[in-house]
Amino acid sequence: MTAWPTARTVGFQPGERNIFLHILTACNLACRHCYINPTQHGTATLPLTTVRQWLKLFARPEEQQTNLILLGGEPTLHPELPAIIRVAKSMRYAVTVDTNGYLFHDLLDRVSPQELDYLSFSLDGPEAAVNDPIRGEGVFAACTENIRRAVARGFNTSLIYTVSSLNIGHLHRMPALLAHLGIRRFFIQVIGLRGNPAVNKPIAGDAWQVAPEQWLAIVPEVASAAAASGIHTIFPKVYLDPEETFQCAGTKADNFFIFPNGRVYRCPLCEDHPIHSRQIKDSRLVCREGLTEDRFFPLNIPEGCVMNKLLQPDNIHYHPDNTPTYRISCCLLKQEIVPIS
Ligand code: SF4
Ligand code: SF4
Repeated sequence: MTAWPTARTVGFQPGERNIFLHILTACNLACRHCYINPTQHGTATLPLTTVRQWLKLFARPEEQQTNLILLGGEPTLHPELPAIIRVAKSMRYAVTVDTNGYLFHDLLDRVSPQELDYLSFSLDGPEAAVNDPIRGEGVFAACTENIRRAVARGFNTSLIYTVSSLNIGHLHRMPALLAHLGIRRFFIQVIGLRGNPAVNKPIAGDAWQVAPEQWLAIVPEVASAAAASGIHTIFPKVYLDPEETFQCAGTKADNFFIFPNGRVYRCPLCEDHPIHSRQIKDSRLVCREGLTEDRFFPLNIPEGCVMNKLLQPDNIHYHPDNTPTYRISCCLLKQEIVPIS
């Protein structure tokens, strides 16, 4: 009998650092669940010279490698993306580009698989009938075609599936598609109530988020199935087991979410609000005073994550005695299943 691989929780590692850099906020798509908020994040496209200066602020070329995730909007709309990737590699970043799949400016011709650690595609359904109502007409065909091209050229590819009430019922069909496409890593994400989902319901009266029982019944099993197909699978913890310790990445990890207007957050849940703890000003990283996200991170509440309780309380459920049914983990706490080779 074949044993199916099981997930392990990936605790926050001392010294690990992840830089999420939005090099622009423009995008060719208008996804229903888009989390980009130009009012809060600006509409600028960062010139190469600025990106170089900002990357220097976070680089640690002599120490442990830093992970850099280049984001938009759609980052391949940036005409200087290949040069940005090379600058980052020269500073010893491990570089991932997160794309919606359109790969503008002939990215695959202008960067080699050796220069890019991962090319990560976003897809929210195993077929156009599920994906396109969320991400736009024709997106499934365009994205899967470019995944095939990228895999054929030898790029390491990953795929991000954002789980919401609109598509959780189709998640189980993703492992077969990913194996067929040749995807190496599968990130299952959970919808967050920021950007569009903070102001619009998916369908009148409906919630974006799925019930805990539905998440727990479906996501770990699909992750195991993906890993059994040879795909390294990562998914958020979301609900802590009773014996697990709550930890806030804001106090235990080095994550920086950077926007074109210079705002730097430590917590992605805070991104719709001007409570960023740091700001890049005149090419210097400065800590902000006053009521910033940092003030919330040490607060200890029975529900787990404080920002979740403040910003998306509908996903917390209570026993009759008012104790929470589940504590909500940090949104950055992941579980992973490494395939059995
Ligand atoms: S591809 Fe990303 S940035 Fe563009 S609309 Fe969709 S979620 Fe927003
Ligand atoms: S999601 Fe919650 S626990 Fe994680 S960094 Fe933000 S406030 Fe802290």
